[in-house]
Amino acid sequence: LLSLRAATVRFGGRPVLDAVDLEVAEHEIVCVLGPSGSGKSTLLRAVAGLQPLDSGRVVLDGRDRTDVPAHRRGVGLMFQDHQLFPQRDVGGNVAFGLRTRGASRSEQAERVAELLELVGLPGAAGRAVAALSGGEQQRVALARALAPSPRLLMLDEPLGQLDRSLRERLVVELRELFGRLGTTVLAVTHDQGEAFALADRVVVMRDGRIAQSGTPLQVWQRPADAFVARFLGFEN
Ligand code: ATP
Ligand code: MG
Repeated sequence: LLSLRAATVRFGGRPVLDAVDLEVAEHEIVCVLGPSGSGKSTLLRAVAGLQPLDSGRVVLDGRDRTDVPAHRRGVGLMFQDHQLFPQRDVGGNVAFGLRTRGASRSEQAERVAELLELVGLPGAAGRAVAALSGGEQQRVALARALAPSPRLLMLDEPLGQLDRSLRERLVVELRELFGRLGTTVLAVTHDQGEAFALADRVVVMRDGRIAQSGTPLQVWQRPADAFVARFLGFEN
């Protein structure tokens, strides 16, 4: 579904993405791990079309999308700080993704209700965003990202600001939800446990390059090098 070819992004001459090749198959859930500053968010933004490449190609569904603007790429992105609109209610936030697609009012309301049900917040459309807990806000952000039914959903630290027990519960729900919807997912996380619970495949980044890519078990059992081993917390 996604093919990133020699994608390079430089900031002030320094490569933040350094000729990255990445393939994501349809229905696959890929988690990107790596230290702070290794280029994870930049990778997602580049695929989404929010960060232009200095060189390389972004191919979606076999079509070169490198020069296609973000809103026409058919990918969804949920940001690191989910950035809900505080002045809109829950329904208004979720509908934001639909409005740009020209859906009618009743279609919108129906779809919003469906999405909120999907993320475990049935009937919440009229609630004020400010009155929601962190976990509930995260679910609203997820519903908003899912609203346009993106072929590829990208999540940047989707459970970032939540406490551990909530994260653990949500990660199981997400895995189940994406499986049911058949959503292809590229997600960034700091949390190994989360990546290993969610992902079909894990990608470990280091300094703008992919240090290792493999199933969670492969990466865990056979770290590609000393960097990956250290990152996973093995002594050596
Ligand atoms: P974190 O885990 O902290 O979110 P990350 O892996 O997502 O880190 P990126 O946000 O992709 O890292 O940033 C990678 C590098 O690029 C960092 O050194 C960052 O300072 C730099 N960078 C990112 N965006 C810009 C920008 N717009 N201008 C200049 N430098 C940038
Ligand atoms: Mg980041």
